[in-house]
Amino acid sequence: MLHRPLAVALVASVLAAVVAFAQHHQTPIDIVRSTAQTDPGPKLRINYPDQCTVSLEDTFGAATAGYTIAREWATLKATPACDASVAVGTDTYKLVQFHFHTPSEHSIDGVHAPMEVHFVHMNTNGCSAGLHPLLVVGAMISAGPNAGELGKILAPTPLAPQASLSVNLRALLPPTDSYWRYDGSLTAPNTDCSWSEGDKTKQLITGVFPESVNWYLLESPLHLPAATIRKFKALYPEGNARPLKSLEERPIYHSGTKAGK
Ligand SMILES: [Zn+2]
Repeated sequence: MLHRPLAVALVASVLAAVVAFAQHHQTPIDIVRSTAQTDPGPKLRINYPDQCTVSLEDTFGAATAGYTIAREWATLKATPACDASVAVGTDTYKLVQFHFHTPSEHSIDGVHAPMEVHFVHMNTNGCSAGLHPLLVVGAMISAGPNAGELGKILAPTPLAPQASLSVNLRALLPPTDSYWRYDGSLTAPNTDCSWSEGDKTKQLITGVFPESVNWYLLESPLHLPAATIRKFKALYPEGNARPLKSLEERPIYHSGTKAGK
């Protein structure tokens, strides 16, 4: 039999572990401008080429590893055939794909945008690259007239599967690149790196998706014509955005100035 103080200490430590386990770092979150701290770390550097061929796919109904993608986790996904990357300090992250949500997954001071785009990058050291091998650059998309390169990608919706086109990736991003940064998660179930969160079924039951992402949310929105946003929404009538999650004890950092290009 355990000595009583020892038993109490054990129970307390188990409870503390449970509480700590409950403090997840999930995405998306509400960005509260007034609480952001100036980022002491190195700046995000974006190295996207002018010319890139991307193939487009509506992932709704696609079967991956025996798992059929439901509409709420589906998206319009663009896969680049070019060499595009971002860098932070000595780490380089290669662009794997970018995709779209409606409405926006993040909010800024409680306000959602009609859409949000996510540029998903993987550390060049792959799944073994520390706690956060992924880096996602997100940008809000609002209704506006200057669609530019983004309009080229989304104007033809509903798209034919695997449609392919050439885009200026560098010109996709907003001209002012100040951003917020925080540690978060993927916003759909994922097993690409054998995450500790378990398989997709377990992730859906626990509501905890892999906490593997360095999140960068650009401060300036991109724009699409209202008619194009309506066409995209028609692809996912119930929306394909994950609800907001609690920030817990995480800091949110603001770049203060523009990202490097
Ligand atoms: Zn996303």
